[in-house]
Amino acid sequence: MIKVNHLKKSFGKNEVLKDINEEFNQGEVVVVIGPSGSGKSTFLRCLNLLEEPTEGEIVFEGTTLTGLKEKDLNQLRQKMGMVFQQFNLFPHKTAKENLTIAPIKSKGTSQNEADQKAVQLLRQVGLGDKEDAYPASLSGGQQQRVAIARALAMDPDVMLFDEPTSALDPEMVGEVLKVMKDLAQSGMTMVVVTHEMGFAREVADRVLFMDDGLIVEQGTPDAIFSAPKHARTQDFLSKVL
Ligand code: ADP
Ligand code: MG
Repeated sequence: MIKVNHLKKSFGKNEVLKDINEEFNQGEVVVVIGPSGSGKSTFLRCLNLLEEPTEGEIVFEGTTLTGLKEKDLNQLRQKMGMVFQQFNLFPHKTAKENLTIAPIKSKGTSQNEADQKAVQLLRQVGLGDKEDAYPASLSGGQQQRVAIARALAMDPDVMLFDEPTSALDPEMVGEVLKVMKDLAQSGMTMVVVTHEMGFAREVADRVLFMDDGLIVEQGTPDAIFSAPKHARTQDFLSKVL
């Protein structure tokens, strides 16, 4: 579904991604772990060209995204949902409106159809009773579940998550991970940057360990967590497990 060829990204003289080659397959759940500053967010943002690669190419569903015109790129970007640490909901819109704006604006979905879909998605994330609630009246965990539903409202083929639970109070982490787990089990292709090692162990098909702009090691959760090969992976895991 996504192919990454010789991806490099620099900010000025700071080379943040150093020749990354990777593939993400349909239906796969890949968890990306690694120390702060290793380039995880930059990598994720390069996949949908929120960040423009300095070198290399991103191929999504057979189309090379790098070098596309903005209009064509936006079309394909709609197929890649993204969820951030900060939920970024529209504060003056209800939960339901947060879900309907983009489909109506950029896909030409009718109000009626968008409304129905929004209600169904809010139910799916356990917020069927919150369609008319404004973000400020929702807890962090509820807001993040609305943000996930909002991304799903565009019917994406892949969902990218960048530390979706890192800004949450501990008691709200579980409800968001549960929604992500259900999504994984429904067959969604997912790339998830997270520090939730329990989630990685339980849900990931594959775990990538990044350090200093490179994917240092990857494998099944069992291989990475039980028998990491690289000293840097071992060192990282000894600090977080
Ligand atoms: P991680 O998500 O693993 O913590 P990031 O991808 O956020 O790592 O950051 C990797 C490096 O890139 C850091 O040194 C960070 O300061 C730098 N960086 C990230 N985004 C920018 C930016 N927009 N401008 C300049 N430097 C950036
Ligand atoms: Mg990050």
